[in-house]
Amino acid sequence: MIIFDLDDTLYKEFTYVDSGLKAVAADAEEAGVMPASDAYALIKNAPDVASGFDRLAAIALESETYELFDIQRMLAVYRYHIPEISLPSDSKKILDHLKEAQVNMGMITDGRSQTQRAKIMALGLDAYIPADKILISEEVGTDKHWPTAFELMMKRNSSESSFTYIGDNPEKDFYWPNKLGWKTIMLIDKDRVNIHPQDLNEITGSLYNPQFTIDSLLELSSIV
Ligand SMILES: [Mg+2]
Repeated sequence: MIIFDLDDTLYKEFTYVDSGLKAVAADAEEAGVMPASDAYALIKNAPDVASGFDRLAAIALESETYELFDIQRMLAVYRYHIPEISLPSDSKKILDHLKEAQVNMGMITDGRSQTQRAKIMALGLDAYIPADKILISEEVGTDKHWPTAFELMMKRNSSESSFTYIGDNPEKDFYWPNKLGWKTIMLIDKDRVNIHPQDLNEITGSLYNPQFTIDSLLELSSIV
């Protein structure tokens, strides 16, 4: 069975971040703070998203907006907006290939339930992975720093002879699956655009490191 991570594995997370910032910018216009294009530029030009939001909230506070426009509102819009993201062609190709080959597929992803589900729907991943094989940390109760989701996946698919996890983040994606006897594969961030750095553990054989690395998800067709 092949289990995927979501963010920066099946699609690039920066595209979600950008989609979220556009939603916040549109909301700023709706609240009467400033035109959406100006709000978007303001956040994009800030050193980071948090300070961009701070700046926007400060401007809203000084100006006479129609509605309360604060950090809480921006975070809610960002987290719960309907994302405009799409499945990269490599992801679609490999998922089509695995589906065609009738390989059992699952997903283990960290994040808020509503946020991750909105991404899954926008990417059309529900066409490939059945609902009971999609495990989201907020619903499971623990994130990937704990074995819970990996153990639950094994329990729900006890007839499977092997498990493979495909992820991007050595800080938390491979430790538990390695420990539980899974095969672990890291998709290399060739373009260096991932949200989390891919710093491998310097200790050879560390359980934090993946057993294999790939440059493209298409390589999975020969590995599995
Ligand atoms: Mg990830």
